[in-house]
Amino acid sequence: RPGVTSVRVAMTAERKGLTLIAVGSGKGGVGKSTLAANLAVALQRRGVKVGLVDADIYGPSQPRLMDSEGVKPEARGSKLVPVPNAYGVPMLSTGQIAAPGQAIAWRGPMAGKALEQLVDASWGDIDTLIVDLPPGTGDVQLTMIQKHKPTGAVIVSTPQDLALMDATRAISFFEQADVPMIGLVENMAGYACPHCGEVSDPFGSGGAEAAAKTMGLDFLGRVPLSMGLRLASDGGVPPAAGTDPLGEPFHAIAAKVAD
Ligand code: ADP
Repeated sequence: RPGVTSVRVAMTAERKGLTLIAVGSGKGGVGKSTLAANLAVALQRRGVKVGLVDADIYGPSQPRLMDSEGVKPEARGSKLVPVPNAYGVPMLSTGQIAAPGQAIAWRGPMAGKALEQLVDASWGDIDTLIVDLPPGTGDVQLTMIQKHKPTGAVIVSTPQDLALMDATRAISFFEQADVPMIGLVENMAGYACPHCGEVSDPFGSGGAEAAAKTMGLDFLGRVPLSMGLRLASDGGVPPAAGTDPLGEPFHAIAAKVAD
């Protein structure tokens, strides 16, 4: 089918030299943005020239996570210029191109256009772009696949069965589009009580690893549920940026992704 071949060639040319890593999840609130931010920072610390796109139109949280709330990107010609931050990871977010607190009720074509503006920006000296996708399998993901075929995808899930079922849908979505699966991350696994130290598993544990095995996917690692991680994230300090032990799981995941 000649049409298909020419689309493939066009996509390859478009992303020439740029590694696009999509971070997805089956549903919201599982820690996809937290993982995307810390993965980007951890890769940067490994010497990767990495940028971050926050394409989560339903809840753009990267400006807060990367401590750049309220900073608007400038435009150079028709292209946006990513906003720098203290962590050396230039970033563009849908949250920066909408008014703060404004509901982003974009229809499909608009959401797709927003993604294009963010990915096709003036990224400069970047060789890897982490794209924090909205949860699920909607218009933004379709545009991502059709216009900027990712080099690979990382899927985040809690250990809970329901989240895993949703994650499975996200995985088959990417697989059907021939996007290679980099692997699965289990977030919010195991909680150490700050008072007595006992570890409990509010969302269960090991579910994502077992699911990865069943599906023949790489398991990239487990990030524990931790108040410290939540507080650091809300404060705009990704733990992977410093020597915080909370950053360790992200460094281990980044090592596997960079492989
Ligand atoms: P998503 O992008 O999947 O919607 P977020 O990364 O925005 O999820 O995380 C949702 C909320 O859960 C945020 O408040 C975040 O700080 C918190 N969170 C994420 N991962 C953890 C974790 N491992 N431990 C504690 N809180 C977490």
